[in-house]
Formats: sequence, structure tokens, C-alpha cells
Amino acid sequence: MTDIDVIVLGSGFTGLRAAVAASAAGASVLVVEALPELGGRSQFSWARLMGAGTRFQKAQGIDDTPEALFAQYMRLHEYQIDAANARELTFGMGREIEWLADNGLEFKGVLPGETNEVDRIHRSGGGHKIIEVLLRLARAQGVEFAVNQRVDRLITDDGRVIGVAVGDDELHAKAVVLATGGFGGNKDLIRQWLPSIAELAGDWVLPVGGEELAKYAQGDAIGLSSAVGAQIAGADLWEVTLRPGYVQVSRPELPGHVILVDSTGRRFVDELAGVAAMQGAVSHAKAPVHLIFDDAAKRDYRPSGEILAPGEKKRYLHPDYVEDVVDAEVEKGGIIKADTLDELAALIGINPASLRSTVDQYNADARLGHDSVQLKDPAQMSPIEVGPFYATEMRLASIGFTGAGPRVNSSAAVLDVHNLPIPGLFAGGECASGIAGPGSAADATPTATCLVFGRIAGESAAAFAAAH
Ligand SMILES: Cc1cc2nc3c(=O)[nH]c(=O)nc-3n(C[C@H](O)[C@H](O)[C@H](O)COP(=O)(O)OP(=O)(O)OC[C@H]3O[C@@H](n4cnc5c(N)ncnc54)[C@H](O)[C@@H]3O)c2cc1C
Repeated sequence: MTDIDVIVLGSGFTGLRAAVAASAAGASVLVVEALPELGGRSQFSWARLMGAGTRFQKAQGIDDTPEALFAQYMRLHEYQIDAANARELTFGMGREIEWLADNGLEFKGVLPGETNEVDRIHRSGGGHKIIEVLLRLARAQGVEFAVNQRVDRLITDDGRVIGVAVGDDELHAKAVVLATGGFGGNKDLIRQWLPSIAELAGDWVLPVGGEELAKYAQGDAIGLSSAVGAQIAGADLWEVTLRPGYVQVSRPELPGHVILVDSTGRRFVDELAGVAAMQGAVSHAKAPVHLIFDDAAKRDYRPSGEILAPGEKKRYLHPDYVEDVVDAEVEKGGIIKADTLDELAALIGINPASLRSTVDQYNADARLGHDSVQLKDPAQMSPIEVGPFYATEMRLASIGFTGAGPRVNSSAAVLDVHNLPIPGLFAGGECASGIAGPGSAADATPTATCLVFGRIAGESAAAFAAAH
């Protein structure tokens, strides 16, 4: 017997968007959430949204089309996504932004982003605001919720998914949507599915908001869906940001007064580069990578505490390098201090002559007002010359997005190992694969994949329920 038309697992962007879409299509819907509260990891997200052809772009005089975004998306992800999936996503992104705005979300302008050919990043005001809108709609449409229920099994009948189970409690449905999020908080799954980041980050690996957010990102969709024959794809697709070992929560931007060097002492990136550039450069640099600064910068550095989005031209001043934090970390061993650059180099395992030549070049460039190696904004450069000198190791260790999970097609149906849909099972957002590729760090796509493929999963599940 069927208890309900559609059961949605998870209450982040994907789950709530799926629930709203399924109930709007006429299905009875229950959202089952493992944790005591609704909103998932999504509620903490900055939730900047990529989208093309929106009225917000037009208002800023930006001429853009979903066709152009589709072409860019395929290039950015190195053609590793089925074109039909990418087309649904890129054509759906702008529509989701408009739909959220029509339902009361206030957008705060459009920014360029790191890799976009035109300005496409829509500022949503934060994930909690999107969650608020989705919850209001879901409740108004009669969606039901069950919290504190971690589904541990999908129930099948002759290959079709017909419900979910929490321990001995079973609940039957005509269709199930997986919206259980990523696995940045699950070290075992990271080792298994993201071996390259496991190697880069080692035991520093954490989800982007720190240990506190790990509980939202345990990767349940992988176990739940593979147990019913799903194809798990998307290995080694990730978005990861840089941080020193002594902090848990990464801030994506570094202050201007530091340099980053690889194990040969080479400066290999503009230290003010964005997340995607930093991810690409650091993941290919010779490890370990160190951040270096001098005592003058340490003493002069005054963070405003103001958080500004990329593209706003002012810098986000970073709290992890203020004087009292640095002094405390020198005591604890998180930051290494030495009277001379040569001593510092020896302590961090770099050839002293190589580090000296890098710093000499940087200092000369800072005085001339032109970074001759990495083209860093000269206004942010200051010579590194007043001892003592400081170094701390930096790793790509804060996981923002994980790409492995059950593969979906353009209807958000979960595919089996033969690429056939598993009847009654749908997925979207961060728990699904086949939507994002290697360029995921670039430009605010995770939230867009949640909303677009959440909507598609909800509509497909409702249509499947209506037909069965
Ligand atoms: C600080 C931060 C900033 C970010 N900024 C951006 C940004 O600017 N732009 C962007 O595009 N992306 C950004 N992201 C990433 C993006 O927010 C996430 O990819 C997205 O929120 C994931 O949403 P989701 O619905 O797939 O999963 P989640 O929001 O993680 O929700 C999954 C839910 O499923 C529940 N669940 C898990 N397993 C089960 C189970 N077995 N049974 C029942 N429930 C279960 C979990 O408890 C959780 O509540 C950011 C993320 C963070 C943390």
C-alpha cells in the first residue's frame, strides 16, 4: 500500500525545491530530514547563483543568453557532462532566479564571477533567505515534514523503488527523491571518491564551514542508491578552498601582504586570485605550499571584519593573520617564526637561495608597483623585508562541493549501471552526479544545480507517481 506520492530525502535547497515542484504538480509530498532542523547545509551557503538572461542582468545592461551560458558550461566542464543535462541546467538557472524573485527573494545585483564571459553571478542574500522562501511555499502547498529521521534504506519491489526505511519503520511511496547533499564531512567517502583531495589535504580535510557543518554532508545518497543498483559517478570532482592548518573555517581570499610559495620557493599564483584559480594553481603546485609574511605587515595589518563579495573590488580583510592570532599561533606551533629569511627557509624545507631570490624579486616589484611574475594588484603589495619572518603551511582542505553520487539523466532519474533509469528513484543537487564536472569551483554552480535539478526531480517524481 502507498502512504504518499513522493518522499523527498533532505531539506536543503534541492529537497525543498523538489518538494515545492512535486506538490505544485499535484503530488502529496513528505520531506524526511535526518537532523532536528530543516534547511541542511544550504542554510549556511552564500548561495550566489549563476544564471543567464535574467531581468537583473538586463537592469544592469548585461546582454546574455542561456545559449551562451550552455556553451561556456560545456567548455568549463571539459565536455564531461551529457549535453542534455547541461542544457536543462543552464537554461533552467535564469528561470530559477526569476522564479525565486517572483516568490519574494530580493536579489542584490549581478557580479562577474571568476570565469564568466559576462556578469552572471546573482547575489541572493544568503542560503537562509532561499530556504525561507522555499519553506513558505512548501508549507502553503501542504508539504509535510518529518525531522530526526535518517533514512537508512530504500525499499524496492521488482527493481522499482517503492519507499524508504528508518530502522524497522517503513514508509511506502510511488516515487522517492534523493536530496541528501554532498559528503564533505565524511572522511571515509572523501578517501574513496575524492582520492586526489584526500592526498592534498591529508588529515586537515573539513567541510568549508568547519567541523560543525560535517553532520549535514555525510553522503548518504551513495550508500542508499548503490544498494539498489545505482551507478555512482563523479569521482574526484570537487571544489576546495585553501586554509592554514590552525583554522577550521577557510576564508576564500588572502590578505595582500602575504606571498605563497611552493616547495622550491617559487611564487606560483597571484595570492589575490579567486577560488577557481587558487584551486587550479595550488593543486598543481609542488607541495608543501607555504604562506610567508614579515613582521612589519603583521604589525600594520588591520582587518575591518567587513566581508565583501568577489568582484566588489575592495578586499575582504582576513582575520586569521591579525597580530594577536599570529603571536598565539607562533606559541602553539601553527606558524613558524625566524629572525632571517634564510633561517625561515631552512625551517620549512626550502632552499634558502631560492626563497631569497623570490622575495628579492617580489620586493623590487612591490617598490616599482608592478608584479612582474603573477601580476598581483600592486596596490596590495608591500616588501617582505622586516624580520622576524613568518610562514605557515597552506592546503586545499576545506571542501565546498563534492561531485560523486548517483548519476542522473536530464529528467533527474537515477541511472543504473547500464544507464537505465531505476523506476521511482530521482535525485538532484549536490548528492547527484552528471550535472557538474571539473569546473565546479568556478562560478557558483552548486546552488544552481540544487535548484534546477531539485525542480526537475520533483516534477519527474510527481509525473511518475501520477502514472503509477
Ligand atoms: C559556507 C558555504 C558557502 C557556499 N557558497 C556557495 C555559493 O556561493 N554558490 C554556490 O553555488 N554554492 C555554494 N555553496 C555550496 C552549496 O550551498 C551546496 O552545494 C548546497 O547547499 C547543497 O544543497 P543540497 O540541497 O544538495 O544539500 P544540503 O543543503 O546539504 O541538504 C541535505 C540534507 O539532507 C539531509 N540528509 C542527509 N542524509 C539523509 C538521510 N539519509 N535521510 C534524511 N535526510 C538526510 C541532511 O541532514 C541535510 O539537511 C556553499 C556552501 C557552504 C557551506
